Amino acid sequence: MEEGKEKGVFDGEKACLLVKELRKSFESGKTRSYKWRISQLEAIAMMIQEREKDIIEAVYKDLSKPQLEAYISEVSRIKTACSEAIKALHQWMKPEKVKTGITTYPSSAEIVSEPLGVVLVISTWNFPFMISLEPVIGAIAAGNAVVLKPSEVAPASSALLADLVENYLDNSSVRVIEGGVPEATALLEQKWDKILYTGNARVGRIVMAAATKHLTPVILELGGKCPALVDSNLNLQVAVRRLIAGKWAINSGQACVSVDYIITLKEFAPTLINAMKEELEQFFGKDQIKSKDMSRIVSPSHFSRLSKLLDDDKVSDKIVLRGQIDENQLKIAPTIILDAPDDSLVMQEEIFGPIMPIVTVDKIEDGFDIIKSKPKPLAAYLFTNNEQLKKSFVENISSGGMLINDTVLHVVTAGLPFGGVGESGMGCYHGKFSFDGFSHKKGVLYRSFNAWFGSSNSNKHKSISSNYG
Ligand code: NAD
Repeated sequence: MEEGKEKGVFDGEKACLLVKELRKSFESGKTRSYKWRISQLEAIAMMIQEREKDIIEAVYKDLSKPQLEAYISEVSRIKTACSEAIKALHQWMKPEKVKTGITTYPSSAEIVSEPLGVVLVISTWNFPFMISLEPVIGAIAAGNAVVLKPSEVAPASSALLADLVENYLDNSSVRVIEGGVPEATALLEQKWDKILYTGNARVGRIVMAAATKHLTPVILELGGKCPALVDSNLNLQVAVRRLIAGKWAINSGQACVSVDYIITLKEFAPTLINAMKEELEQFFGKDQIKSKDMSRIVSPSHFSRLSKLLDDDKVSDKIVLRGQIDENQLKIAPTIILDAPDDSLVMQEEIFGPIMPIVTVDKIEDGFDIIKSKPKPLAAYLFTNNEQLKKSFVENISSGGMLINDTVLHVVTAGLPFGGVGESGMGCYHGKFSFDGFSHKKGVLYRSFNAWFGSSNSNKHKSISSNYG
């Protein structure tokens, strides 16, 4: 029986054998070929197409994720990532010509995208298919062998991922290892050529420390407190709908780019809060806890973490919209807290749930200081019609990504990198950025024996790009 597929404890020994097996496959050269990469990408596309219903069911089991949301965020997103990679792969693989200078004249040069080898993807539970498979698509497109470790916090999705990869993909080079901390630890002890980890910053540090031992490069996709600065000069209804979409309507706030807190003007806050209450009723009805359009909290431990944020004495008299709570169903309806003190838990920790603090300021620019006083977020949002304010926000606020007058959509915008900065992570992926993230960019200079000062023979330099032409 092949390693990694056996039942029983997955320990360091098994992890070591697994990596050996995948390295052998990588060294055989098969994953480098265009044909293999395309065949695997097409297999993922087919797997998503054929098993769409199972995927939607699995995320429903794990998160009560509404069908449409599951379709958009898990199924459709992977289809798009796959078809983008299939269409562009030939172009991505082509060496990139670089101009050479007088020092090396005559010569030619190019950047060759070389697969790194055997890579590890450790993913999380909130978008269990998208966050697992999008990096895998990038790793395969770049010609690597890859091991995926999904999150044990979404067990139905993890089990389905293992089943799908086993049945649709080439298991000599693509594998899923299910499990939690012991399995992740066993995997992290091995030598990888790149690790992409998605999850919280505490574990991000563990991953980076393990990678240091083998000088393995890492992409860390972490989280943080994503602010939305809301000016009074705006289209109120559109802004409020987009804030609700970017907080409660996507996985009940359990998204890394979900709006964590709002900053707005003191005199504008009542207008904003009233508009939010009205629109929330439009979205989820009067009895919001019963809404079928709202995901549940993923686990009892995350539910109790969120309850602690609300039980904090520092916010008990600041809750202006107290959402209903159903502990049995692990549901918390939209909750808004006005002017929670900065040292309250809700303003110190990443919320990752359906609680929205609103902080008020006298001048909108004061919001910049609040954002800058916290670790750099994964996303920062601004709602305004003021062009000067937009310019100043882009210039002065450092965040993984940024979106003006909407929420979340920058993440699905083709051509934009997705990744954090500072505490919200390092490196990026999505589309060509995934391909680049899992490739080594090898600079190659071609000189010929015929080359001599004054004699140009550069057209005789045959680069390897002709192999891709
Ligand atoms: P999680 O508990 O599923 O952990 C993530 C992964 O780390 C899992 O596969 C888990 O098994 C593994 N893990 C946990 N403890 C470990 C340890 N001690 N050693 C090795 N591996 C370990 O997910 P989470 O951390 O609750 O995820 C939520 C966090 O992820 C939030 O901070 C959120 O903002 C962030 N996030 C970031 C992105 C992004 O793309 N930047 C996307 C989603 C979530």
